[in-house]
Amino acid sequence: MEAGRVREISTSMIRRMFEIVEKAKREGRDIVSLTIGEPDFSTPKEVIERACRAMREGFTHYTSNLGIEELRSAIAEEYGVSKDEVMVTAGGSEALLNASLAFIEEGSKVVIPSPSFLSYFTYAKICGARVSEIRTHETGFVPNPEIFAEIMDRNVSVVFLNYPNNPTGAVIDRRSAEEIVKIAADYGAVVISDEIYDKIYYDKKPVSLVNHENVVAVNGFSKSLAMTGWRIGFVIAEETLLNSMLKIHQVNGVCAPAFAQKAVAEVMLSGEFKRLVSSMVSEFRKRRDFVYGELSKLYWTVKPEGAFYMFMDVRENCIKFAETLISYGVAVTPGTAFGSWNENFVRISYANSMENLRKAVERIKGYYDSKEAHGR
Ligand code: PLP
Repeated sequence: MEAGRVREISTSMIRRMFEIVEKAKREGRDIVSLTIGEPDFSTPKEVIERACRAMREGFTHYTSNLGIEELRSAIAEEYGVSKDEVMVTAGGSEALLNASLAFIEEGSKVVIPSPSFLSYFTYAKICGARVSEIRTHETGFVPNPEIFAEIMDRNVSVVFLNYPNNPTGAVIDRRSAEEIVKIAADYGAVVISDEIYDKIYYDKKPVSLVNHENVVAVNGFSKSLAMTGWRIGFVIAEETLLNSMLKIHQVNGVCAPAFAQKAVAEVMLSGEFKRLVSSMVSEFRKRRDFVYGELSKLYWTVKPEGAFYMFMDVRENCIKFAETLISYGVAVTPGTAFGSWNENFVRISYANSMENLRKAVERIKGYYDSKEAHGR
């Protein structure tokens, strides 16, 4: 029954972890989940109140496929582009699928740095492409342009980049990112730059790759305004690329929720956006400093410069580690969910309260000590 294009897509490992955690909770065990992929903060009241008002004012219907003018203009201003280069989508995920369907040629190659967000692998499969991964473990979890150049060929249709990165929190520097974009352009490949975490950074400011003719920048408000359930994202690309994606968007997401578009536009235009993001980021920074400070004494990792994840080398099979850690009261995501060479890594999400993070760190130390006592 199932179409070939989805036959190889697996959800089993994530489901398995989910079921293990649920079972432990049903048994009344206290589990701190460090698997969460969204801010633990509520959507700011500044957004909610405006959305309620917008609903009452009738923002409950279709909008233009491209999004309401007010929001497109606000985004264009924020990123220094023309509003004709902005399309609002139903979340970052819809934008990623639109871009994948628009630019990944069947039978072509898709380049994905490892580790990376699992969805990119799924998009490549849906589009019938082969994946070519670049290992980044020895280069600070960012792709090295020289290694990138070696694996490029004319068969590559799309390259995914995601900085700040899920699952590592790594941020690429401008020079390397632009070099990669240039090499991709030389081979006629489109770069899908997933910049969804661009507002959540600590000391190293992420680069936006907008304003390059072969780049589609994907973004949204799921993370920056803690709005994952509202489904509001956007893409920035030059008009020819945008028109290709519009062909998919018009039959896929169609438009993002009207009231959400209106509320976000008003928050951006009111100047409150920066303040709301920065109060959340300063909280994430405290948590990052604590979690990185404690766990990097036990396990090798790269210091996260953005997002709210950390990727650790636990020096044993990640599934076994994650399953055993449940009995110590902590859930983490096994590294195999993020591409090749990650069998000994786990992702920690610190989008959780300091109280829970303290508990989790103590429990991980407990596991580490017992393992040391048994000679690993
Ligand atoms: N891109 C990355 C790297 C993500 O981590 C996520 C969500 O976890 C998304 C995109 C999807 O965002 P959205 O909820 O806006 O679809």
